[in-house]
Amino acid sequence: MAMFINHSCAANCESSEEDGRVWITALRKIAPGEEITYDYCLYDGGDDEAMCNCGALSCRGTMYSKEEVRRRRAAVKKALKKPASLNKIAKKKRSQPQTGSGVKSAQI
Ligand SMILES: [Zn+2]
Repeated sequence: MAMFINHSCAANCESSEEDGRVWITALRKIAPGEEITYDYCLYDGGDDEAMCNCGALSCRGTMYSKEEVRRRRAAVKKALKKPASLNKIAKKKRSQPQTGSGVKSAQI
């Protein structure tokens, strides 16, 4: 049953697992005809962006949990951080004068 319920960042239900069975529990009163949703709180999706377009005011743009979003941002930040030794090499290259880079013309 849980596989037929869509994700929402402002879900009206939550899911839990007990003795190998998934339980869907209402978080608030649900109006007749209202779609039943729960927050997937994904945490293991590999490279999948798992984008969310649920339309909720509190939509975080992804179906990953807040903790997973924080973990992924930290991993990207760490990957982008360059080692200090590489920065020194880059600065040296930039400060060297350029020679022979252009053809000079002279009037006789
Ligand atoms: Zn959303």
